[in-house]
Amino acid sequence: MDMLINGKLIDKPEKIEIRNPFNNKVIDRVPQGNHEDVKNALAAANRAKKTLNDLSSREISESLYGIHEELSKNSKSLAKLITLDCGKPIKDSIEEVNRSIQTILLSAEESKRIYGETIPMDACAGGENVIGFTMRLPLGVVAAITPFNYPLNLAIHKVAPAIAAKNSVVLKPSMKAPLTALKMAEIMDFYLPEGALNAVTGHGRTIGDEIVTSPVVNKISFTGSVEIGEHISKHAGMKKLTLELGGNDPLIVLEDADIEKAAEAAVRGSYLNAGQVCIGVKRVILDNKIADEFIQKFVSNTKKLVTGDPMDPETDVGPLINKGAAIEVENRVNESVNDGAELLCGGKRGGTLYMPTILDNVDSKMKIVQYETFGPVSPIIRINGIDEAVKVANNTKYGLQAGIFTNNINNAMKAVKEIEAGGIIVNKPSTYRMDNMPFGGCKMSGLGKEGIKYAIEDMTKTKIVVINPL
Ligand code: NAD
Repeated sequence: MDMLINGKLIDKPEKIEIRNPFNNKVIDRVPQGNHEDVKNALAAANRAKKTLNDLSSREISESLYGIHEELSKNSKSLAKLITLDCGKPIKDSIEEVNRSIQTILLSAEESKRIYGETIPMDACAGGENVIGFTMRLPLGVVAAITPFNYPLNLAIHKVAPAIAAKNSVVLKPSMKAPLTALKMAEIMDFYLPEGALNAVTGHGRTIGDEIVTSPVVNKISFTGSVEIGEHISKHAGMKKLTLELGGNDPLIVLEDADIEKAAEAAVRGSYLNAGQVCIGVKRVILDNKIADEFIQKFVSNTKKLVTGDPMDPETDVGPLINKGAAIEVENRVNESVNDGAELLCGGKRGGTLYMPTILDNVDSKMKIVQYETFGPVSPIIRINGIDEAVKVANNTKYGLQAGIFTNNINNAMKAVKEIEAGGIIVNKPSTYRMDNMPFGGCKMSGLGKEGIKYAIEDMTKTKIVVINPL
């Protein structure tokens, strides 16, 4: 697949091989973009700003509705491409495509609701008979940098609100899984002015840095690891930033919880996309009073999961994105077991596949608890009561989302008030996300919000207009 620059598909002699994470076969080769390609993409986006700005909200909205229709028509092939590209089980790829189609629809609707505000100027002395109102205007060029794990929906979460707010875009998808985003860009381009959306491929450290430091870019919307997020924030200068970074989300189960539902939720939350989900359950915090009962159900449900070929509709857990990632997870589990954690199931690797793994009696100081482990591993930490649960939940540098199972409103309210995270989900796991809700973490998990309406707010600037009486 090719890059998209100024409405044209661009190939290059230098290529990067894209491999199927399950069987390591080469599935495509994408151009290895360089400084010149980035410069051309940025120049095209810079030129397209005016064209976009001259369009009415109605016209922008119609374009997004057109894209919605076209993506719907291509849903089956897009789902297959996601599975080939990043190894996600096909049933979850279908769900990702359905969500992506809805994300576009939300953007088409929201593009007609970008409101300013009337300011009561006469609330201040000197403001009598003065009319004041704000307008929300596009920022200009938005750089969208995306990770491998939700290659379509996370790209749409940046591109669609940017276009809805009349910004042009330079998209840089992950080189671990770029194909779906490139296909999406090709589809979208037909409905947009020339250069409004550009997609470049190449290595993060070269073309990524070029995009991040360019004076043409007005805003960077980045989703990925804490490490690259910090690097970007150091080099972005005065550009507006949204950083959607790593998570280490807890699932708390208290003594008054519905244990059956909590154990089911823990399985889906921990092993969805082989644990490669920013809001995946990464720590299971259990009240001692129900720990044994919960663990028995959790382990038994986990052992029923089908691990294997992601193209098989029966598969629940597919491969990790590459062998290096699988080995990293394996090493971290082995280290925890050597340090005293008890392996209840899993703990085995075959190539890029890693069996869903549960570790009991994990100490809060272990790396498996302190850092994000991007794989199908659930470390269990036992506690006594809500106070200790909140303390343990807050005991990492991350703060993306948290889930708590309890039937006690006071315990739920304490968690809502005291857990440091961008979102608290009561009686569902942290993996719960509706694409219109405000989404984004605190602490090292990031800055700013996505969720279409909120992304649009972050992709517009406010201008105050003051009209004085003659
Ligand atoms: P990553 O940080 O390795 O890469 C993300 C993107 O950054 C890729 O497109 C990569 O090419 C690019 N990049 C690399 N170096 C760059 C540079 N110097 N300048 C600009 N861009 C550069 O992340 P990944 O491995 O693709 O994804 C996994 C991580 O993403 C996990 O930590 C996960 O938690 C996080 N994530 C967060 C969210 C969220 O919404 N908070 C969602 C999904 C994934």
